[in-house]
Amino acid sequence: MTSNSKDPIDREVDEMLKLAKNGKFKPGIYNFCDRWCEKCKDTNRCFLFAQEEQRKTRRLSNTKDSDDEEFWEEAKHSFELTRRLIERSLLEEGLDPKKVLKEAKKQKNWDDNVETRYDQVKCLILARDYMKDVHIFLDNFHRSRFQFYPEFGMEIDFSDVKEKIETISWYHTLLPTKIWRSLYEIEDFEREKDEELRKLMFKDLLKYFRLVKKCIQKSKMAWQNLLKKRKELTPVCRKFIAMLNEIEKNLTYGKLENWGRL
Ligand code: SF4
Repeated sequence: MTSNSKDPIDREVDEMLKLAKNGKFKPGIYNFCDRWCEKCKDTNRCFLFAQEEQRKTRRLSNTKDSDDEEFWEEAKHSFELTRRLIERSLLEEGLDPKKVLKEAKKQKNWDDNVETRYDQVKCLILARDYMKDVHIFLDNFHRSRFQFYPEFGMEIDFSDVKEKIETISWYHTLLPTKIWRSLYEIEDFEREKDEELRKLMFKDLLKYFRLVKKCIQKSKMAWQNLLKKRKELTPVCRKFIAMLNEIEKNLTYGKLENWGRL
């Protein structure tokens, strides 16, 4: 169903749906990736990437005065776009969006205790500690690059380890987020009664776990390579590799182990 409306958001929804239906995208690919689009080989198959490119074009033609104004305008726009997309999909399914919303409000889907419960999960506690410590390390590392700047107007070159530092930086925040997500998906999976649905959910779960493992492996590799280049950082690199090993050892897969090898 397309809209003949002159409303620009409706036209944008039309464009997005057309894009989504053109067959070149791999459904949901962006749910299981590390969101490092710059390094991704699947940009051509990613709907989220295509959407982001559209958004960039829109930003370029945006004439808002300040960054704040632009941010809120963008957030409002995304929210409205999502609302209309959902409404349109429901209408296509022959459902009344107002009725669906009323029903959804009656159901309590969000578990308010989830944060407190996950705060006790060891692998997440360790991943958050790792994130905090790496944040301090990165902060000091970049500060030290500029230690001679006031006197000589020069920063210390770090091109030999730039890629390693970028990798460490990218994954240190992603790791706790992805562990959190996998814990949430495990609970969701364990609550599900329908066997067919459980099989589908399990396939996704494996992808979430692989992503957690990828964050750990990439980070470990980056620390190892950093150590080879900067011997003076040996103790610190070893400390972070040990922390990552400990996180890996404590990853919680619960009853899922009965479903086969991860
Ligand atoms: S393009 Fe970006 S969002 Fe899409 S799959 Fe690749 S990394 Fe993920």
